[in-house]
Amino acid sequence: MATDTMIDPTEELAALYGSDTFGIKTMEKYLSKSAFKKMMVTIQQGGRLDPSIADEVAQAMKVWAISKGATHYTHWFQPLTDATAEKHDSFVEPDGKGGMVCEFTGKNLIQSEPDASSFPSGGIRATFEARGYTAWDPTSPAFIKRTAHTATLCIPTAFCSYTGEALDKKTPLLRSMASVSRQATRVLKCFGITPSRVDSNLGAEQEYFLVDRDLYLQRPDLIETGRTLFGCLPPKHQQMEDHYFGSIKERVLEFMSSVDHALWALGVPAKTRHNEVAPAQFEIAPLFEPINVAVDHNVMIMDILQRQALKFNLVCLLHEKPYANVNGSGKHNNWSLSTPELGSLFSPGKTPHSNLLFLTFLASVIQAIDLHADLLRASISKAGNDHRLGAQEAPPAIISIFLGDQLEDIIRQIKEGGATSSTSKTTMELGVDVLPVLPKDTTDRNRTSPFAFTGNKFEFRAVGSSQTCAWPMAVLNTIMCETLDEVATRLEPVAGTPEFNTVVAELIKEMITKHDRVIFNGNGYSEEWLAEAERRGLPHLHTTPEALEVLSAPATLELMEKYNVLTKAEMLARKEIQTESYEKQIDIEAKTCLNMLQTIYMPAVAEQMTNICGTVASIRAAGITAGLKAATAKAEAVGALYDELPGKVAELSSAIEKGCPCAIKRAMESARVTVDALEALVDAELWPVPTYAEMLNIHSK
Ligand code: ADP
Ligand code: MG
Repeated sequence: MATDTMIDPTEELAALYGSDTFGIKTMEKYLSKSAFKKMMVTIQQGGRLDPSIADEVAQAMKVWAISKGATHYTHWFQPLTDATAEKHDSFVEPDGKGGMVCEFTGKNLIQSEPDASSFPSGGIRATFEARGYTAWDPTSPAFIKRTAHTATLCIPTAFCSYTGEALDKKTPLLRSMASVSRQATRVLKCFGITPSRVDSNLGAEQEYFLVDRDLYLQRPDLIETGRTLFGCLPPKHQQMEDHYFGSIKERVLEFMSSVDHALWALGVPAKTRHNEVAPAQFEIAPLFEPINVAVDHNVMIMDILQRQALKFNLVCLLHEKPYANVNGSGKHNNWSLSTPELGSLFSPGKTPHSNLLFLTFLASVIQAIDLHADLLRASISKAGNDHRLGAQEAPPAIISIFLGDQLEDIIRQIKEGGATSSTSKTTMELGVDVLPVLPKDTTDRNRTSPFAFTGNKFEFRAVGSSQTCAWPMAVLNTIMCETLDEVATRLEPVAGTPEFNTVVAELIKEMITKHDRVIFNGNGYSEEWLAEAERRGLPHLHTTPEALEVLSAPATLELMEKYNVLTKAEMLARKEIQTESYEKQIDIEAKTCLNMLQTIYMPAVAEQMTNICGTVASIRAAGITAGLKAATAKAEAVGALYDELPGKVAELSSAIEKGCPCAIKRAMESARVTVDALEALVDAELWPVPTYAEMLNIHSK
């Protein structure tokens, strides 16, 4: 083949990347120079968009979207569920002469007025007060959502009520980003640094399970609740530790590749893919971005994972705990504050012990997390995540910080009077000449910590796989605002004076001494840690209802209002919505459980009883005794468990009637014990639903 006619694969990928987004490259091509400049100011400096260019941007977006095959546009937003919302309008308008024109104005772009009455509002507005508004977020690029034969222009927006309250997850996030940027800038200025801006960043690692679609369709529990309510662990699950980073099987790799390509077209910087710890569990991670873009991209990733899976006759499970007794799925939120000039403000540099700027930001994180561990815990609460926190390889429901050996050593020195040294990087000799000498990191990793320092960022590991990162990130930014505000207020009077360094060092020492109880470098999964955390007085909130209490505490309401993230009414609404959604989820699970017991498991067990009794009768009729003992014993064993079921059904029904989540959860667990015991006894061909062994073996088809 002649090389000059070959397509350069890099060029092909470059052409694909972002081709379905109205990003900077596209805007530059479609907008006038002056409109493009104004858009850039808004995107890069966060200023309000000049309304005079709205019509031009809308026109450009329309021409571009239509060239991509779009017939419709939608204001795409994130209501107070973990889902996204969209209502499509076509570009088509009659021209008055029996024909049509494609219309899309600045007004269409900037604002829309969907009926808000059926979205959760937590009492902010009644059903009859239906008006809600979506407002364009120009900092997150518009994109094309595709199916086989459709293309829709999606415009990322914020969503609020007629009275101006935020009804979505994006609004408080954007507000928290602006506030933390303001406070961090004040602190930097004390150090004589004037940043062009301070970004808060997120890199979200998404874990998920895949299950064969044919098997999925036979499991009402997976369909209705996202998790299995019954099922025995197979003999081989994750104990051989052979799945994590294992060679990716062809069917899965084909799926992953299609996901990557779909994401690249959307300008999502998909980077890493691998097998996770549990069988049939996987991970995808994009590169980090400013949080609001990263959050939008993460929900797009969740959407694409689910849609592409179907093309391979798979279903992608995003639930935190689809299978009991194997690992659950999380979403590690890698978070940092940075400036374009300095990079991450959490970069320790070569000698962190003398890096006052770094130590100030580090001490601020320690203080913020210690002061608001309960609020951070609340930010990741949901029924699904309750199954994960503190179970198989998931961080516990106690929020603590892992710093690693180097920083812990510096913290110790600071507390003892002053830090004078940093342990430095060493190298590792592998004892084989052909292998390179490896530089060794100053700290090991700790997979058990919910909030771990990982080089130049913190990794909030307790976030659930099905949640959007918007709320935990908004909370994290907000609690940082408070501490950075305090730090700036202390430092501003001495900024530029000879005593500045002494005051900073004193402040760092004070913050660390007061708040280092939240630092824990040991094994977060151990029993000892539970006891130790209790001694230290760290909150341990096991369940969502316990965790949500803090959302309405006066100090929380004040904090959220002070940093302009959420008003009191908005906060209380969120608490109500989260509580309600928790209760609804438990109720759905309970009803699914009851239904499966009565219409799936009990009939199967009855059939098994009939079969064995038939066997017993035929043995007897044949006038022999051989086999009678075995058949009778099986009938007795199955029958005894069968007899337990009506009582368990009654217990669950009554718990549902009372609407008590604790009683419901107990009754479901108890029913599961019996059904799982039956699964181990009943003939495989009579068992009415796919087993864990079948579902976790994703590669067999
Ligand atoms: P791991 O080994 O834990 O998977 P990686 O270094 O691969 O960690 O990064 C995981 C995620 O963290 C990626 O999304 C990456 O882009 C992101 N990340 C890296 N540096 C930063 C940073 N300074 N701020 C926020 N996220 C970051
Ligand atoms: Mg990680």
